[in-house]
Amino acid sequence: MHPVPRVGFVSLGCPKALVDSERILTQLRAEGYDIAPTYQDADLVVVNTCGFIDDAIDESLETIGEALRENGKVIVTGCLGAQPERIRARHPHVLGITGPHAYEDVLRNVHEHLPRPHDPFADLVPAQGVKLTPRHYAYLKISEGCNHRCSFCIIPSMRGDLVSRPIPLVLNEGIRLLNAGVRELLVISQDTSAYGADLKYRAEQWGSRQIRTKFIDLARELGALAAERGAWLRLHYVYPYPHVDEVLPLMAAGQVLPYLDIPFQHGSPRILKLMKRPAHAENTLARIKSWRKLLPSLAIRSTFIVGFPGETEADFQLLLDWLAEAELDRVGCFKYSPVAGASANALPDAVPDELKAERLARFMEAAAGISTTRLATRVGASERVLVDAVDASGKAAVALARSFADAPEIDGSVRIRGAGVARLAVGEFADVKITAADTYDLGARLA
Ligand code: SF4
Repeated sequence: MHPVPRVGFVSLGCPKALVDSERILTQLRAEGYDIAPTYQDADLVVVNTCGFIDDAIDESLETIGEALRENGKVIVTGCLGAQPERIRARHPHVLGITGPHAYEDVLRNVHEHLPRPHDPFADLVPAQGVKLTPRHYAYLKISEGCNHRCSFCIIPSMRGDLVSRPIPLVLNEGIRLLNAGVRELLVISQDTSAYGADLKYRAEQWGSRQIRTKFIDLARELGALAAERGAWLRLHYVYPYPHVDEVLPLMAAGQVLPYLDIPFQHGSPRILKLMKRPAHAENTLARIKSWRKLLPSLAIRSTFIVGFPGETEADFQLLLDWLAEAELDRVGCFKYSPVAGASANALPDAVPDELKAERLARFMEAAAGISTTRLATRVGASERVLVDAVDASGKAAVALARSFADAPEIDGSVRIRGAGVARLAVGEFADVKITAADTYDLGARLA
């Protein structure tokens, strides 16, 4: 064992799992453990798994196997940890298994197999914690769990019902991150629009004011904190409920980015009902149109599932028609894949794999056309972008940045070339003129 015990860490899954990983790593560092960059350097490895769809489960199980082969001492946590029998069946020698958000249990498991280096209170940890995401953007988790019961999803059975974090905690974490230099805060949860419903939107003391644990109050307060510090606030996983309309004025005022990430999943009312989607009875097209009327620049990102059980050609056509009318800026699409434990598995009329693949291709072709058209309208515009990377190694420097319409890792980017680019720094805002557009990305030069 190393003089200072070293923990290896593998983080799989979505941004929400990343936030859990950050918390566990922060605590490990606070307790004086070193974090090892490779399996060989570690005295023990923690694998934070994903269990959302079968592909993610396979990847998690393979990673656990790899960590066992390469290191031998492995603790498993995260979503797949909610199904310990599945992990034990394939990997009986893991040292411990805990489910998602079980920070204390992960630490207890680590203590059992690797002695604590020293007194946790004596050590200094940066106030903002240890972040796996680059320094200039950070995810801020506002709640755990979900009150919906979408038929394709097992998150509620793994993570339980909605539990909102009290608003003072969320705001304090936001301030810490912003003061530590974060330029973009990304609010995440399973359903951001439901924030506080479990607490009956309870008002909490915040400085000299009372603030409700509620979506709009959260957006207003966090947006103001970010704007005061010249940073961005981006909202993910919002559902198209009427009360979401209230956030549009904050976007128009520049307090919250004019960007909404709404997982619509389908456009056919019949399929949405079979999926048991939140807000499935809402007239989403009318809502999108009224939002765009108020705020023409609003960028909407979404994800969809094609080939859900019972999806007919007519349903799929409805989805394409819906998409054409909604003109969403950014979309991701998945072929339906059954997840063990999901109620949708019992639905009749499974769609054959080839048909799923064909529909996925047709959907993505339609989405690409819309994206191309919408991006083209931005050529000539002046925009502020956030620089993610600068490559000054070649003859001409190029910077990769993101606009208000681009969330990290899932959306497109703005490629900046020309005079002054080599002097740009990662995490800096830049004012650019958009000069070119293709299917998903923009080109720009410094203004
Ligand atoms: S809203 Fe539906 S898909 Fe999203 S976490 Fe909740 S149950 Fe799962």
